[in-house]
Amino acid sequence: MIQTETPASLIMIFGATGDLAKRKLYPSLYHLYRKGKLADHFAVIGVARRPWTNDVLREHVKDSVLTSIKDAENIDDFISHFYYQPHDVSDSNSYIELKNLADELDNKYTLQGNRIFYLAMAPEFFGTIAEHLKMDGLTNTEGFNRLVIEKPFGHDLESAIQLNNRIRNVFPENEIYRIDHYLGKEMVQNIEVIRFANAIFEPLWNNRFISNIQITSSEVLGVEERGGYYETSGALRDMVQNHMLQMVALLAMEPPIKLTPKEIRSEKVKVLGALRPVENEEVPQYFVRGQYGPSNLNGQEIPGYREELNVNPDSNTDTYVAGKLMIDNFRWAGVPFYIRTGKRMQTKSTKIIIQFKDVPMNLYYKSDNQLAPNLLVIHIQPEEGITLHLNAKQSSGHSTETTPVKLDFSNNDIAGLNTPEAYEKLLHDCLRGDATNFTHWDEVALSWSFVDKISNFWENEKAAFPNYEAGSMGPKEADQLLEKDGFFWWNVSNLE
Ligand code: NAD
Repeated sequence: MIQTETPASLIMIFGATGDLAKRKLYPSLYHLYRKGKLADHFAVIGVARRPWTNDVLREHVKDSVLTSIKDAENIDDFISHFYYQPHDVSDSNSYIELKNLADELDNKYTLQGNRIFYLAMAPEFFGTIAEHLKMDGLTNTEGFNRLVIEKPFGHDLESAIQLNNRIRNVFPENEIYRIDHYLGKEMVQNIEVIRFANAIFEPLWNNRFISNIQITSSEVLGVEERGGYYETSGALRDMVQNHMLQMVALLAMEPPIKLTPKEIRSEKVKVLGALRPVENEEVPQYFVRGQYGPSNLNGQEIPGYREELNVNPDSNTDTYVAGKLMIDNFRWAGVPFYIRTGKRMQTKSTKIIIQFKDVPMNLYYKSDNQLAPNLLVIHIQPEEGITLHLNAKQSSGHSTETTPVKLDFSNNDIAGLNTPEAYEKLLHDCLRGDATNFTHWDEVALSWSFVDKISNFWENEKAAFPNYEAGSMGPKEADQLLEKDGFFWWNVSNLE
């Protein structure tokens, strides 16, 4: 049951000395604490390899909080709830020590046996940790047990099934919280509200009125120091399998009969199940892959992907993917969903553009005799908001002259509104037992089975990489993907 108040809980963070914990988890927990959204009764055990002490962890947490929040009130009280346990993930003795500490804190803070196990570690440890948690008695409490798992959830369908089987031996599906941090983003959560709380959109939200939908998630940075990991992943697995397909599912799903995790997830599953599979020789008609090459941006030499640290100089890894997805159901038959994502692109931005069909007859004209299409733009990051592109009369012109206008709503415009970080919302959801914004196994499995067909085809074909310059919007084949359907990508340059 989803609770409105946060219950008392013990949060164990495996990987407490790592990057994710430092950059995201500690500041998010502090925000919850400061907003009164963490119960008075809470404790955190940081678990990792290093021989730290409670004091070292507490200073580390304080530093991490102060890096993002300057006026961190009551920070000393906050960090006093943190404890450190040096740990070896494959050694039962480590878990027994951890259990003793957990039981002690359970009593000290009256935590009612409620436990969250947050695995902020490399995925190869997920199965082992889950098994030990059960075997060594950590899950044997009066309260709830919840397992939070970071991405990636497997490398393909087969490895995801194996991992899932191991975890499900210990935790039932309703205790597993698979993180997709895009689902914690304010404007991703807003997709459902925009669609289902406004009478003006839902009647138009189908193949009779929408011509195409475009989702772009572009990054300016390259792989930085994560080359080793990225070589085993690539953009298709790292971004499309999870974040991009999740956004497609939210845009395309039917209205759920209730706003419960079960109903919402089941509608998303139906969309993923209706994705037209793309395989073998069809792949190049629907998908384009890219890899950035070197370039000179504003006088600065930018290395190509193959020159990055820990990257094979002959690498076939995709740092860019564009695709055309078709959803074979009544609502969406014939409407392409175009997606693209990549590193070292021109701008850092995630946007969704819903392009409506043209009016049946153009009674108005501009010099080129074209009316701009109506667009609904959902800005996910870094800006957050929605923009509706309409046509209006040119103010000083004849009544037959139109001009595009924009209705703009931006969260940044609301004074004092500070959108919480995705991780803050997701942690809060998990504490309250709300799994809506976490991915269900059925979604993971369907996404992998869609993506595997594309990666299998690519793995057997050497790509002509590099094929886009760092700082560009990707390879020209991605433009052709839309041009052959009579569309083009909406970019900063043609949206403004
Ligand atoms: P990291 O390498 O910075 O940290 C890994 C942590 O695991 C460290 O605390 C380390 O001590 C601990 N660890 C490693 N081996 C151990 C062992 N044998 N026994 C006990 N502890 C051990 O990694 P990270 O960047 O924090 O990422 C953690 C997870 O989160 C990964 O699954 C990653 O894919 C995912 N993730 C990270 C980010 C991010 O921004 N860093 C974003 C999304 C997902």
